[in-house]
Amino acid sequence: MTTNDDELPFVQAESRLPDFPTSLPGFQQMFPDEHACSAYLEDVRWPDGFACPYCGVQQEPYRIETRPTVLQCRSCARQTSLTAGTVMEKTRTPLCLWYWAAFLVVAATPGESALQMQRALGIKRYETAFQMLHKLRAGMVRPDRDPIGGQYPVEIDETFVGGKTRGEGRGVHHKATVVGAVELRESKKVRKSRDPHKQGVPTKGRVYAGRIRLHVIPDRGRAALEGFVTENIALGSVVRTDGWQGYERLGELGYNHEFVVMEGDPAKAEAWLPMIHLVFSNLKTWILGTHHGVSQQHLQAYLNEYVFRFNRRFYPFNAFNSVLGIATHTQGPTYDELYSGAWVHPNPTDR
Ligand SMILES: [Zn+2]
Repeated sequence: MTTNDDELPFVQAESRLPDFPTSLPGFQQMFPDEHACSAYLEDVRWPDGFACPYCGVQQEPYRIETRPTVLQCRSCARQTSLTAGTVMEKTRTPLCLWYWAAFLVVAATPGESALQMQRALGIKRYETAFQMLHKLRAGMVRPDRDPIGGQYPVEIDETFVGGKTRGEGRGVHHKATVVGAVELRESKKVRKSRDPHKQGVPTKGRVYAGRIRLHVIPDRGRAALEGFVTENIALGSVVRTDGWQGYERLGELGYNHEFVVMEGDPAKAEAWLPMIHLVFSNLKTWILGTHHGVSQQHLQAYLNEYVFRFNRRFYPFNAFNSVLGIATHTQGPTYDELYSGAWVHPNPTDR
């Protein structure tokens, strides 16, 4: 099974990092040269200090001034490349350019084109920019596969996306059917109180969208909807839908199914499934605004990119590492570990 330990629930990984910059100049200040980029790569890979992958010895390596991406073991003298296994492996393009390009891809401008990127970063050849963008986007269009829900209730609904109808009257011609699911999470504020009994007690907070999943489906039939739910939502989750018959067996399939029959009343639907409707509305704005509509054959790739950004919106360093293929090599906690208290954050002194 593929895991996406850079998605929303796994927050510890970047706790040591400074705030992700909001502008390209700010980002360039953080990564001004090849040494800064290499140091980041090294820190992500060996948060507790370099350990030689050949002989296992943990010791400050030899460094070569002119080749900052190469570390040499003091014990066995073998060299380790920092870019091995990342999208930058064997590249002749400077790491800074990769980093800046990755920043543009994950943070600044959704749907950045190769031409825009070539100009923004002053890259000489269009082909270089095109290939970099292609490699960076590959990580975003791969679907997130971990089931969502679990301890969080999930709203599920369908919508129609894209495709203009010309001269065929109103309706849904040429539009794709998209089914979506969103987790409902609640922000918890820790109470500051003079009453010692009330100190540190979490108060009820604002409900916000957790992780999402979006899939193109051939129709609104039961088979398609049940397939989406069983693939994407953890068994036993509370799932909320409207009264559509395609969802009627979710209880039998092992979900805690809550539904309300809408009787065609939009206000009722809005009140019962507000979060997924908000997700759909923002998705459509993004597709229309950035891509001026999307052809049906490419729609799923765009949905995956949207889901990728959305699920990492609070943790841009995770998105950044993910598109660059920088594996963190640290095991993230699972939901159960995280909330049962079994998860112990790795401690450098343990090794
Ligand atoms: Zn060694």
